[in-house]
Amino acid sequence: MARQALTLALLAALGCGDDSPAECPPQPNPGCASDAECCASPPCANRCVRSDALVLSLECAPPIGAGEPGAPCTTGDECAHGLCLVTGRCAAPCGDHADCATDERCRRAWVDGDAARRATLCVPRSSLPPVTTDVLGPGARLTLGSAPLGAHHVLLPRCGVLPELLTLDGASRLYDVDALGTDAPPTSPVFAPDPGPITVALPSGLDGVDPAAEHVATFDQPVTMDRLVFAPGAGSRIDIDLFLVGVADLEDATFDPLRAMLTSAGASLGEVRVHPIGGPEAERLAILESERGAIPELPELFALGAGLPPSVPVFAVRQIDLFLGLAGAIPAALPVPGAPSAGVVIGVDTAGDMLGIVLAHEVGHALGLFHLVEADGTQREPLADTPVCPIDADADGDGLLEPDECDGAGATNPLFWSIERAGTTLTPDQASIVRRSPIVL
Ligand SMILES: [Zn+2]
Repeated sequence: MARQALTLALLAALGCGDDSPAECPPQPNPGCASDAECCASPPCANRCVRSDALVLSLECAPPIGAGEPGAPCTTGDECAHGLCLVTGRCAAPCGDHADCATDERCRRAWVDGDAARRATLCVPRSSLPPVTTDVLGPGARLTLGSAPLGAHHVLLPRCGVLPELLTLDGASRLYDVDALGTDAPPTSPVFAPDPGPITVALPSGLDGVDPAAEHVATFDQPVTMDRLVFAPGAGSRIDIDLFLVGVADLEDATFDPLRAMLTSAGASLGEVRVHPIGGPEAERLAILESERGAIPELPELFALGAGLPPSVPVFAVRQIDLFLGLAGAIPAALPVPGAPSAGVVIGVDTAGDMLGIVLAHEVGHALGLFHLVEADGTQREPLADTPVCPIDADADGDGLLEPDECDGAGATNPLFWSIERAGTTLTPDQASIVRRSPIVL
């Protein structure tokens, strides 16, 4: 998250609602739910297709276009079911997960970018093939199985549970929601929004965490989680999918700080694919209000990403209450686009001239980078070569480590908690974390 000079920045909690990450009972489509209601066994003359483009009701009728689910599209008329995801691929409606292929899930997703509306559709479960998938739980303590060095474990809570991650233990305590203070700073491979998908990157730093050790996540209630494990990235290119929600296209110069930051990491900014989103259902998401410190509409916004190829989804809105920008988590569940923590949101009007550095900062979070130090001196970040600004540097004694109090001690790093003096150069250890993200191609 990026704030200029506010208090300790915490990620906003993410609500569940009907856009819960993985398994909430999908909201029924008006009309038919899926092809199964229209035809007992293929080949079928009728499918469950769009009947009214305005309210997005469905009916059993012959296919509309030639595009089968997964085919590229720009409008619904090109698709057999009349349904084109805002991310540009045809999709089929569903009533539950049984209607979808094993590498898909049934969830609320957005179609028709210029007049975006939501339907319950089969969408790809992930943008990359996971190396492992399994189900953990039910239980309040879940043991993460083994995974390749540097892998990202994405834990997707099933419907109806709003779990809070309390602790994560490996060979040592890695995350402790009660000890995020200066007395017992946890070294964290995860910063979990509450509730939502959780991405655990092991090891979190370059050493110090044994990835082969048994890792146990403790939640505040019994949960069942789908675990998808993704191998670390092996390339150097990072693509962006930019969603314009109630805002005009961004100037290319907005991407300069991100370009420079990735270059400093030995990576490069690849394709920037732009998705203009219009219509009243989506435009109400252009101004994000907070409720008790949380932004309850983020899951709906992040659901726009369903069906994307491997990338960092960036949602540009006009304003975000309290924040200039937010990452869904550290690291974000980037290989599972459409999930509530998969991507970053930036407030174009709120960030103003700082938009470019806000974007770079938030993408850094999404790729797995923590603040060097929080405003109050808390340190969650496990890297050895990042400068540390000690709480003793708080010369005016206001409890905040201001950028001018951390001169030469991290204030110009793009992941300093305040972006007032942020530059674009990452340290070699930060660079290694960036390049390890599964979506680096
Ligand atoms: Zn931040």
